[in-house]
Amino acid sequence: MLVVMKQNASEDEVKTVINYIENNGFRAHVSEGEINTVIGAVGGKSMDKRNLEILDGVQEVIKISSSYKLVSRTFRSEDSVVTVKGKEVIGGKSLCLIAGPCTVESYEQMRDTAAALKQIGVPIILRGGAFKPRTSPYSFQGLGEEGLQILRRVADEFDMLVASEIMEISQLSLFLKYADILQVGARNMQNFNLVRELGTIDKPVILKRGLSATIEEWLMSAEYIMSGGNRNVILCERGIRTYETATRNTLDLSAIPVVKKLSHLPIIVDPSHATGIRNKVAPMARASVAAGADGVMIEVHHCPDKAVCDGPQSLYPDQFASLVSDLGVIAPVVGKEVVKI
Ligand code: PEP
Ligand code: MN
Repeated sequence: MLVVMKQNASEDEVKTVINYIENNGFRAHVSEGEINTVIGAVGGKSMDKRNLEILDGVQEVIKISSSYKLVSRTFRSEDSVVTVKGKEVIGGKSLCLIAGPCTVESYEQMRDTAAALKQIGVPIILRGGAFKPRTSPYSFQGLGEEGLQILRRVADEFDMLVASEIMEISQLSLFLKYADILQVGARNMQNFNLVRELGTIDKPVILKRGLSATIEEWLMSAEYIMSGGNRNVILCERGIRTYETATRNTLDLSAIPVVKKLSHLPIIVDPSHATGIRNKVAPMARASVAAGADGVMIEVHHCPDKAVCDGPQSLYPDQFASLVSDLGVIAPVVGKEVVKI
């Protein structure tokens, strides 16, 4: 249930509504919009909406039948902007760029890749997996904590933020220590224990769409994180399984306008895992931005031919630089920009 307060509702009136919600066994989540404050009531059994409607300062009470509430545009009409260390990084006017190798292989590899990215002269969030969800148990599984340490060290050297994938709850303390942004991979989108736990932290979470997840299932997974109190969720479209075999997955770009209508959360696109082929990455990244994505996440390796994993879909740094320059041209058409450092 969502309680929309009148424009001039007082703080006391808001408090009374929150108390009523909590006294009835629901949790209250407050969204202070530019015009109205909206209070979401989640988690309880039943409540007669008329008892809320008659409270002072209440404009409207909306019963939401969809399973996601806090994630929905009804809860918050303005776009959410995710901040890291006080800076707006995803969802604002500036297009968010995340780049780096599939996996952290060594300090030298991360340093060389980060140095090449830094030279481009735009803010880039460094990515790299330390724990890798590999389809085969015999493939490289990641460097673990050492990988996170390398990421942090390199990011600090180049004054960058880092994003890395968490696979299970037991890794959380490591991620809180070393990472700025936590990523939930496609294979874990419906690991409900994990997403529920990520609701209890305040670091941003990139939630990738599951390989065969509908948009509704994806939003419900985001609801797990938000209902725990973490508002910093970023959705990432990374392609879904279809009958098509020409690309690794099928990039569902229509998810961007669909999500934008249903939700206030920022959405980025990963064309690297979506297509699986280097020469398809830049066209789909350009298309993603044109379709209204808040950013892109791209695999870039200083030497893709030697990459331990996903080399064939990783861009060379100069290819990524040229893509960034294209995105700078496209972004203004959709009200975004690629800022220079
Ligand atoms: C990744 O980004 O490293 C990754 C494994 O992606 P996905 O979960 O989308 O397959
Ligand atoms: Mn990869």
